Amino acid sequence: MEELKPLIRIQEIDLVIKRIELKLNKEIPESLQEVREGREKAELLIRQVEEKFKENLKKRMEIDLEIKSIEERIKKHSQDLLKVNSNEAYRAMLKEIEEEKERKSQLEDQILELLIQEEEIQKEKRKAQQEAERIKKEFSEKEKMLLQNKEELLRRMEDLKKEREELASSANPRIYRLYIQIASTHGGIALSPVNDGFCSVCQMKVRPQLMEELRKGEKIVRCENCSRILYIPEIQEPSG
Ligand SMILES: [Zn+2]
Repeated sequence: MEELKPLIRIQEIDLVIKRIELKLNKEIPESLQEVREGREKAELLIRQVEEKFKENLKKRMEIDLEIKSIEERIKKHSQDLLKVNSNEAYRAMLKEIEEEKERKSQLEDQILELLIQEEEIQKEKRKAQQEAERIKKEFSEKEKMLLQNKEELLRRMEDLKKEREELASSANPRIYRLYIQIASTHGGIALSPVNDGFCSVCQMKVRPQLMEELRKGEKIVRCENCSRILYIPEIQEPSG
């Protein structure tokens, strides 16, 4: 039926538009989200290492201060040593100085340990930075591709909508209204090509009498099972 031809193309366009909309509204935003989360994770890793470094440094500075105050005390006690007048007080002071020196030596060991850790953390940080750079580069490329794809799909959709508008205005209004009505209640699919005598959407066999009417092409024939408008697809010319 000649009047169905624009509707067949409209059906094709509607399905393509639906796929494009799914990509634009769901698949691409989800992929972009993944890309952005991946980048954030890489940056978080660097921040965590930096935080660790800062904490280590702070601890080292604190110990440094403590060592300085111990040194002050040792200095003061050494001077006091000269002023004490009893042997007992002298020995007690000497013992105190020894303990302070012992404590100082322990703290110095701790500082050494922290310095070694800092070196390790610096190495870790450089590694995290390299990894983050790699991830960021990879994701930036992916993001660029996704945004490019989005642009292309938007352009394609615009073209398809224009084509659809022209087809809709040239179509028989009664048939177009029927198309819209069926499509809106049948998952967006109003037309069904007959394939080997079967409705290709619901797979119901088309009665011979209806097949005859279809071949005559004088009126709209609908599937008795799924209500879609049936048509006999044209044999595709081999292309190329
Ligand atoms: Zn059917």
